Amino acid sequence: MRIDKYLANMNVGSRSEVHKLIKKGIVKVNDQLVKTPKEQVKDSDEVTVNNQVVSYQKYHYFLLNKPKGVLSATEDRSQGTVISLLKPQDQYQGLAPVGRLDKDTTGLLLITNDGQLNHNLLAPGKHVAKIYRAEIAGVADEETVKIFASGMTLGDGTKLKPAKLKILKQDKEDDTSEIEIEISEGKYHQIKRMFGAVGMKVTTLDRLSMGKLTLPEDLKRGDYVELSLDQVEKI
Ligand code: URA
Repeated sequence: MRIDKYLANMNVGSRSEVHKLIKKGIVKVNDQLVKTPKEQVKDSDEVTVNNQVVSYQKYHYFLLNKPKGVLSATEDRSQGTVISLLKPQDQYQGLAPVGRLDKDTTGLLLITNDGQLNHNLLAPGKHVAKIYRAEIAGVADEETVKIFASGMTLGDGTKLKPAKLKILKQDKEDDTSEIEIEISEGKYHQIKRMFGAVGMKVTTLDRLSMGKLTLPEDLKRGDYVELSLDQVEKI
């Protein structure tokens, strides 16, 4: 790969900023001064800028605790996206959220530029289990548990796989419940539509886990951590 692309991919700067660094004579490959942005580098080469090693990492994986009010999209003209929550130095080329959480949904969202992983986690038949906690307007009971477990059909005819519903709290006076639900698909507004189909409404929705990835308890809303390859391979 060309040295300018390599350094731009590593977010050292834009291509033109990288060209300036090369002109300044502070970019070296294996201790040899780089003279032209066209110079080729391999992943195994040691690249330094101002004598600081730039180690090449092709893919990045960020685990975000998504707050309410931001879109699970890469860009939007008028609204904040999950990508805009990342620090500028973490906004690598090609980052995209793995699946979508609704604008008002909170919790675990994986963001990566590893398109293959993104595809593997979302491809039909490969969907990993996802656990959400929700507050519901309506009293979910054992009948609701059975309906969800049977693989329900939504109003528009969409047939769903069985889902596990756990009732955490019921308040018959207030007509509300708190639940945990595990689904293995990612259909549009799936959980909201499931409760809608049994005459209830989701008032808050928070994703706690996706496969073996769980939201760290100390990760505040809007904050994120970078995952190691090791952690990602375990998903
Ligand atoms: N189901 C929904 O209805 N919304 C989400 O954001 C995720 C799952």
